[in-house]
Amino acid sequence: MQKRENPLILTIDDEENIRDSFRLFLEDFEYTVIEACNGREGIEKIQQEKPDLILCDLRMPDVDGLEVLQFLKDQELNIPIIVVSGTGVIGDAIEAIRRGAWNYLLKPIQDMSVLLHAISQALERAQLLDENRAYQEHLEEEVSRRTEALQKTMQELNQSHQKVQENEEKYRLIFENLQDVYFEILLDGMIYEISPSISHFSLYQREEVLGENIETLFPSTQNRERLLELLRNNSSVTDYEIYLQDSDGTLIPCSLNARYQDVEGGSQDKICGTLRDITERKQAEARIEYLAYFDALTELPNRRLLLDRLEQNISRARRHKHFGAMLFLDLDRFKNINDSLGHPVGDALLKEVSTRLTIDLRNEDTVSRLGGDEFVMLMSDLGNDPINAAAMAQQKAETIQARLAEKYLISDHVLHVTPSIGVAMFPSSDDNSETGNDILRYADTAMYRAKDDGRDTIRFFLPSMQAAADERLAIEKELRYAIEKNELSLYFQTQVDQNGVIVGAETLIRWIHPESGFISPATFIPVAEATGLILPIGQWVLQHACEYLKTWQDAGLEIHHLAVNVSPRQFRQPDFVYQVCSILEETGADPSLLGLELTEGMVIDNVVDTIEKMQALKQLGIELSIDDFGTGYSSLTYLKRMPLDILKIDQSFVRDISTDANDAAIVDTIISMANHLDLKVIAEGVETELELAFLAGKGCKTYQGYHFSRPVPDDQFTKQLEAGTVHC
Ligand code: C2E
Ligand code: CA
Ligand code: CA
Repeated sequence: MQKRENPLILTIDDEENIRDSFRLFLEDFEYTVIEACNGREGIEKIQQEKPDLILCDLRMPDVDGLEVLQFLKDQELNIPIIVVSGTGVIGDAIEAIRRGAWNYLLKPIQDMSVLLHAISQALERAQLLDENRAYQEHLEEEVSRRTEALQKTMQELNQSHQKVQENEEKYRLIFENLQDVYFEILLDGMIYEISPSISHFSLYQREEVLGENIETLFPSTQNRERLLELLRNNSSVTDYEIYLQDSDGTLIPCSLNARYQDVEGGSQDKICGTLRDITERKQAEARIEYLAYFDALTELPNRRLLLDRLEQNISRARRHKHFGAMLFLDLDRFKNINDSLGHPVGDALLKEVSTRLTIDLRNEDTVSRLGGDEFVMLMSDLGNDPINAAAMAQQKAETIQARLAEKYLISDHVLHVTPSIGVAMFPSSDDNSETGNDILRYADTAMYRAKDDGRDTIRFFLPSMQAAADERLAIEKELRYAIEKNELSLYFQTQVDQNGVIVGAETLIRWIHPESGFISPATFIPVAEATGLILPIGQWVLQHACEYLKTWQDAGLEIHHLAVNVSPRQFRQPDFVYQVCSILEETGADPSLLGLELTEGMVIDNVVDTIEKMQALKQLGIELSIDDFGTGYSSLTYLKRMPLDILKIDQSFVRDISTDANDAAIVDTIISMANHLDLKVIAEGVETELELAFLAGKGCKTYQGYHFSRPVPDDQFTKQLEAGTVHC
């Protein structure tokens, strides 16, 4: 309310003289005074004028002072009211005060200053109250404003709290039901958080890995370091493939998504991410990969994989100068079976054929289904002799032919099929441009030739190969009976010192065929080795060599050393040492006069077993030599561990000694190596004085070769022994 300059005072009194006296007096003190002659008029004036103070009589006609007071109270009009009354009744005063009178003065007022004081006191108090009220109102307003704001904030807070709770619940649900694994890793590698889903695809429980180092899950240092480096460089990785190692050691392929999370300037940096088990994906990929290279029906390698291996084989064969073979098989009249009995039977038959084809398949060989009823077999590393290689291929083809010809029992049907087999050898020429497809085509052509020649037949692509293979097979057939038919004999070739004094001899086998005549061991020993016939033959040689040894011993002839060649297959027999032992015992030959010639390949093959056998033989007193030294791949480290006595320098080096500086250097090296290892050296194939001189000059002391003597039969050799020397 606007403050008036002069406070407005309303006097309510039925006595006019009193109203006048008040007005006259108060106007002197700068108050504006209005009047009412009774309570009713007073109430009207109050409503109209809103006075600052009221002076009110109690006893008035009509509406009295108490009613005015009551009105003010009811209306909550906080106008200071001073009762000025003529009654000195204390009850009136109490009642007036009870109804809100601010002060109570008795009429007639003797001392007007009392009135003045009461008025100014009341006004002052009213003002204070006003101010107080305003302040109160302001306070209340402020409080309510703030309360409102607070309520709003509270409400918002509540809402966001609820939201947070909802989110938390949502994340907890996700976290707990995640298929993937969620993790957080601190920079020192500590697993700070990991979702329970870790137990879905591993044996780990969440609690087991929490707090552990990341190494627990990813022990492969290399992968882990690479992942961390990627994260350092790119701050995030997606679909990083890594193997999780389960508690039982199983490796689980996983896809990992992760990113660096910077928290508060680096001290709390973490790596957050997810892991997904991709075993199934990997399997699917492997399956796709598998199907790209394998035939779905038989699970054999398909044409693509075959050609891949064939190319590799061809180039390896060229490098190592050895041969391989490609066998192309087609089932005769397979179409009839398929058409008359249906595809399921046909399929089952093909599967059975593929099973039979893989029986005793060597690791290095490949059987493949090209499609339909066409199969091929790739044979690698058939040695460096083309004739032998062709014979092995022919032999394999015959085995397959026989195996496939056996009856098939398929869903109550008894079936018979025969194959037509075409064979191509590779490399078939020196032409380096020959491809796998060429070889496959040659074999295919040969297969058609086999079909033309009446089916159930084997044909070679090159007629020369065919002839060679036929011949070798003939040898094999004949060789089987050579021992029984007494066609084998032993020759002996002396080993001498520089002056031709005999220091030993090598036993060499001879085969005189009644029709074909002399057949070189270089031709039939490989056949014997390939077919296993070498076992009875080897034993026969050893037996007879020992018998001769005993005869010469008994005759008092000095033979210091009789060497017998041992083939790889023979040596690899588990009871080889036992065989030697019992032959020695049986014949009574002196073991210290017996020598065995082993080849480099054989001793390198299975070092532990070889050394064991060699030691056992040494223990018997037998001398051991390495034959054809320098042509194999012997490593000095192996040789050092072998209980050897003699190195035999291969004749190919001796042959070129005077013309080839390389060979001369090799011979030189072999001799100094032998000296270093404390081994004796025998030079083989010494044919000329020049060769002898060179070898002698290099410090070689023992020789074998046509320069001194050719291999000779027993009677001649006996004569040589009797003489003690051979003359060049
Ligand atoms: P090898 O063990 O290297 O035998 C040495 C071969 O060189 C013998 O051929 C021998 O007659 C021949 N030779 C000796 N001095 C000279 C020479 O001055 N000039 C030339 N050009 N040749 C010479 P052979 O008897 O034809 O034997 C060939 C291979 O057959 C032997 O090579 C050996 O590996 C194998 N062999 C021979 N007899 C047996 C045997 O009883 N058992 C086994 N497993 N293999 C044998
Ligand atoms: Ca030999
Ligand atoms: Ca030799």
